This record gives sequence, structure tokens and C-alpha cells, in this order.
Amino acid sequence: MLLSAAMSQKSGEKQINIQQKPPVVVVLGHVDHGKSSILDYIRESNIVEKEAGGITQHIGAYGIEYNAKKITFIDTPGHEAFGAMRARGAKVADIAILVVAADDGVKNQTKEAIKHINKAKLPFIVAINKMDLPIIDVEKVKRELLQNDVKIESMGGEVPSVEVSAKTGKNIDDLLELILLIAEMEGIKGVIDGPAEGVVIETRMDPQRGSTATLLIRGGVLKKDDIVATPSTFGKVKVLEDFKGGPIDEAGLSAPVTVIGFDSVPRIGENWKCFTSAKSAKEYIDKEKINKEPKIISTIEPGKKVLNLILKADVLGSLEAVEGVLSDLPQENIVLRILKSEVGEINESDVRLGISSNAKIIGFRVKTNKLADSLITREKIKAMNFEVIYELVQKIRQLMEKSLEAKTVRNDLGKAKALAIFRTEKNRQIVGAKIIEGEIKKGALIEVQRIVGEEEQIIGKGKIVNLQINEKNVDKLAKGGQCGILYEGDAKVQEGDILIVYQKETKKGDL
Ligand code: GDP
Repeated sequence: MLLSAAMSQKSGEKQINIQQKPPVVVVLGHVDHGKSSILDYIRESNIVEKEAGGITQHIGAYGIEYNAKKITFIDTPGHEAFGAMRARGAKVADIAILVVAADDGVKNQTKEAIKHINKAKLPFIVAINKMDLPIIDVEKVKRELLQNDVKIESMGGEVPSVEVSAKTGKNIDDLLELILLIAEMEGIKGVIDGPAEGVVIETRMDPQRGSTATLLIRGGVLKKDDIVATPSTFGKVKVLEDFKGGPIDEAGLSAPVTVIGFDSVPRIGENWKCFTSAKSAKEYIDKEKINKEPKIISTIEPGKKVLNLILKADVLGSLEAVEGVLSDLPQENIVLRILKSEVGEINESDVRLGISSNAKIIGFRVKTNKLADSLITREKIKAMNFEVIYELVQKIRQLMEKSLEAKTVRNDLGKAKALAIFRTEKNRQIVGAKIIEGEIKKGALIEVQRIVGEEEQIIGKGKIVNLQINEKNVDKLAKGGQCGILYEGDAKVQEGDILIVYQKETKKGDL
């Protein structure tokens, strides 16, 4: 099938032009297994640099031509970006390459990558990398893949694999051929007419050029001067560049392009689309705002603890970064729920939401306005401002751990028998006692146990205010010892009562 072979499909009344398109490939795998090296090798050996000085700028994606066919590679660092995109429900890649180092095998991030690939239902190729190294174990890699439900072709499965070296370039051609083969077999297509749309791959604030975004085109043709919007921002395509930084007038299916002209930096992973006017773009954003559900960074199960957050930051890029690092916190025992995530200073409505939903207000590189400040003081709620992302994460981690602390556990220390009552005041007594089990401690709690009829009953509770032996203060006393206990409690102790001594401990929550 030819890439350019356009087909027409009837959909209702409309004719939709569908065209086979260059596959968009994402490279996943464990850190240091060679993802960047493979991407660099393919880039360097397949792109004829046209730009003066041959400076290659990384915009998050690039395109190559191999055997006269195009392929787009996403080269943002591995799963972080891919995860962010998937979290927003964005369909980015058509094919994944799972890189596993031949000398290291399947590791944690390999397993995560397999999960990502399966969830996104992506066809994929296993690239066993670093084949040039002297000590490798390909069979072990294959076995470990099998243990993780990845059945490669040479093991009788259906996942194609190729043994490569990003260092020597061994079999990288085979990898590219496999990509094209899968693209053809899967029949990867896109709609070419209608308003252009796609996914935000990368964003940055360029001091000279303003908010800059790398957009991947998944449908239609994007032209200079088009009005584009994401759910968070919009703008006019003032500058349109190909991935090498050259100016272009339009770009089609699967092309990664740089767009300058957004009002503010859009978010990585957002879908973008073209509108016929700024008015309709704004209406779309307003509608998206209303529909916006609180972001839940993990699945909430009944009975699971939740920490509500309101995030405010200086720019969208910062919010994105904060959300990203928070999503990396373990959330098996307590879930982070972001009720609001916005650019701007902490204001009155944030505080009101904080009060009504019992949420912590977190500011990153922003101030709190005066009205909000007085409300915070009056209502005694907590708002925290941070300048350093690491400190912000530390604090959230502490808050999560604190929420999990709620568990107080009882720790039984020992038992004492009341031998004599020396003095009785309102709710205090001095009790002469003998320790008959374990030990007792100053400050510990007491249950007073008495035999009523034939039954042992707890008749009241109190605590040990002080402990004395021969009028000398002691902190604790073990089995066999005798002492005077200054007891305070709601029941009057009688001779013969058993004092069950225990402590309550709050257990630190483990994330
Ligand atoms: P990433 O974290 O998966 O992107 O891994 P990198 O591409 O940064 O590679 C990690 C390290 O492995 C670097 O020191 C690379 O030079 C090295 N490396 C990557 N591919 C190969 C390879 O095929 N052979 C050898 N010998 N080293 C490699």
C-alpha cells in the first residue's frame, strides 16, 4: 500500500478523506538501557541536516525518511512525557519500541513500560540493545520478557524483536524496517480534511519568542495563521516551523511542528485543535473549564484515604511540573486529589474551596493576595507557598504520612496490684502497689480492674501522674517492685484492684 494512497469513506452524508500516515513511534524502557542512544543514532544517520552549522535542536519529536517512507519519533524522555499524555487520555504514538539492555534484562521501568503499552493497546517491537557488549545474556532477556507476558516471535509469540546496538548501529536498519512493516500491517491512517488537530508534545517559554509548543498533527493540515486551542489556552499560529526549525506554511499528518503564538504555554499531553475564529476557540475553552473534573492522581477506592489539594503556580509549565512530581508519589495508601490547579496567586475563592472541601492550598512561586491572607488567618486554615519544587514534594509527602498517622495503637506495659490506699483527693489518689506483670511507667494510662461478683470488670480509667519509691521519684518500675502511684482518674481505686498499665502510640504512616 502506498503512503499517499488516499481513500474516501462515506460517513453519513459527508465524505471523509482518510490517508495512510507516517507512524508515530515512542521509545520506552528502563533508564540507561539506551533509549536516547537509539533515538540519536536513528536521527543522526537518517536526517540530512539542512540548517547552517547543522545544529540539531530537540523539540520533543523528529521525523526521518527511510526507504522513501516517513517515520516520526517522539524523543521526549521516556515515560514521564508519555505517562503525562496518557493521563490526559491523549493518543500520541502508533507504535512503541520497548528497549531492553542485553546485559541487564527486564527492570522496573521495563515492567512499567509494558503496562503503558498494554493500556494504550499499542503494537510494539522489542529492541534488545547493547549487543556489542562482551557480557550479555539474550536468553535471559527473553525469559524475563516471557515472565512479564511479552511473547516475542523467536519464543513462539507474536511480538517482533530485534537485537541492536546503538553504539555500532547494528540492526538499526532492521528496526526501522520492522516499524514500517507494522505500520503497513496495522494500516495506520488519519483524516486529512477537516480542522487540524493533535497533541501537545513539548512546551517551553522562550525568552525571545514567547510561549512555544511542539505539536504533533494527528488529523488535518495545520497552516500558518490558523487559530488553535487546547483546553487551557489558545492563540494564532504566528510562526510555524518544521522539527528542524525551518519556517513552513503548512504541515500534515504525523508531522511534529513548532508553533509560536499561544497566549500562554499549553500543557504537555493536551489535545489541540483548530477553530475558525478566536471566539469559537474561547467558547471551547470555557466549556472545557466547566467540564473539568477534579484531577485524581490515582484511583480512589472506597475506604481509601484522600488528601485534597488546591494548586496555584506562576505559569502553566510549573503547574505541569508540580502535577508531574506529585503523580510520582506512592499512592497505594493515600490518594492525592487535585480539586483545582490554576495559574495565579492564591485568592479568596481558593481559600473558600479549601475550607469547604478540607483541602490544603499549595502555592508554587506565587503569593497569597491580601483578602485570601486575612481569610486564612481568620479561618485558621493552612496555605503553603514554595519556591523550590523539592521542598513542595517533601511537604506533601509529610502531609500524606501525617494523614496516615491516624492509627493509634495500644501497647500494654504491665499490671500492678493495689495493696493500700494512702490518700484520696477529688480525682486523685496515692496508691501503694506491687508490679505483678511487665513494667509500669510514669505518664502511662491505667484501666482499673476489679472483681465484681465473680467477674473481672474494668470499672474506670486513669493515668499515672507520678511514681515514687520511698518518696523518691522514679520513671518506671518492673515486675516485683513496690511503689507509690499518684493516680488520677474517674474511678476510685480500692485495695485489691488490678491496675492494667498501657500506652497509646501513634504509628507513623508509611506511604
Ligand atoms: P536511556 O536512559 O535509556 O536513554 O539510555 P542512554 O541512551 O542514555 O544510554 C545509557 C548508557 O548506555 C550511555 O552511557 C550509552 O552510551 C550506553 N549505551 C546505549 N546504547 C548502547 C549500546 O548499544 N552499546 C553500548 N556499549 N552502550 C550503549
